[in-house]
Amino acid sequence: MKTVRRIKELKAEGAYQVLAKAQALEKEGREIIHLEIGQPDFPTFENISRAGIKAIEEGYTRYTPPAGMPALREVIAETAGQQRGLSFEPGQVVVSPGAKPNLFFPTLAVVEEGDEVIYPDPGFPSYKAMIQVADGIPRPVPLLEENGFSFDLDAFDELISDRTRLIILNFPGNPTGGILPREDLEHIAAAAIRHDCWVLSDEIYTRIVYDGQMVDSICGLPGMGERTIIMDGFSKTYAMTGWRLGYGIMPEALAEKVGLLLTHSVGSTAQFTQIAGIEALQGDQEQVNEVVKIYQKRRDAIVSGLNSLPGISCQNPQGAFYVFPNIRELGLSAQQAADLFLEKAGVATLPGTAFGQHGEGYLRFCYANSLDNIQLALEKIGDVL
Ligand code: PLP
Repeated sequence: MKTVRRIKELKAEGAYQVLAKAQALEKEGREIIHLEIGQPDFPTFENISRAGIKAIEEGYTRYTPPAGMPALREVIAETAGQQRGLSFEPGQVVVSPGAKPNLFFPTLAVVEEGDEVIYPDPGFPSYKAMIQVADGIPRPVPLLEENGFSFDLDAFDELISDRTRLIILNFPGNPTGGILPREDLEHIAAAAIRHDCWVLSDEIYTRIVYDGQMVDSICGLPGMGERTIIMDGFSKTYAMTGWRLGYGIMPEALAEKVGLLLTHSVGSTAQFTQIAGIEALQGDQEQVNEVVKIYQKRRDAIVSGLNSLPGISCQNPQGAFYVFPNIRELGLSAQQAADLFLEKAGVATLPGTAFGQHGEGYLRFCYANSLDNIQLALEKIGDVL
């Protein structure tokens, strides 16, 4: 089959590969605890589901403007602005089916052949994929465990140059749960301005932070509004992964172009999904806070449980619903450890290398699962070790 270079290096997401392996074991009758896939274990909040069902019943099943229903763009501009202490116009908002298109299309819109793109490693696998499809050159910057998995700024300073067109950030991060200290954010912003590059800030976990912390958006730093694309969505905060609803916030001129890419690709986002999204943003937010409290208890349980196992050490992540323990002392590669835990303990996790080469020596556990399952998984891994 003849295909082109830009798709040659594309790989499947590790989470789906491990899920398939785990499901094959389940077919053989094995019981598997799923700590691999990154999605909330509780259902979409009732008020949101009801709004979506009512919208279908009322016939909201038609095309909408490609960049989203005006009513939803307005609510997003208002609520996303309030959350970040910033002010956005509805014309800056682009609604998409899931958040991913608001990574992919802005990248296609600002990166061309030979442009370099800096992105976190370990990081969300779609970053590298979309850089490759845009014919850009991937420049991974290591995240350092000793700095709470924030950027290695020395490596960043060596990588950035006038060839850099885009810097991708993701805090709280997948797979580490790390956040970026404000000084680091300021350092990166100053470099982005100096080298005139765009910043794509993946803020999908910005509402899932612990210990009363707040995460600043780089968009709020002086000179950054005109060069920042914020990507956010509903999947994680409102347990809406399957509804497919996300958005980008960017300068209006770029939003128009990204809207055109949506026009000629997906067309628009499902109308009833967008109506459910309005309810998500305008409805009771206390349920989000309640869920974050539940995640925090689970985080505490999994961090202390992992730290009590021989050969494993685990930092206390500040956000998202992942832990990224260091497993080097086990004397196994990340892939070997993930295989061992899946095959012998019946616990599905992801090797850190599913997120880039700097993930070697680590595993990712998603703790969006019940405390009982988390405890059982820890016991089973403990037995195997
Ligand atoms: N960005 C990060 C860091 C993620 O972890 C995910 C989902 O796993 C996404 C983006 C994509 O979100 P969505 O499912 O809304 O497309």
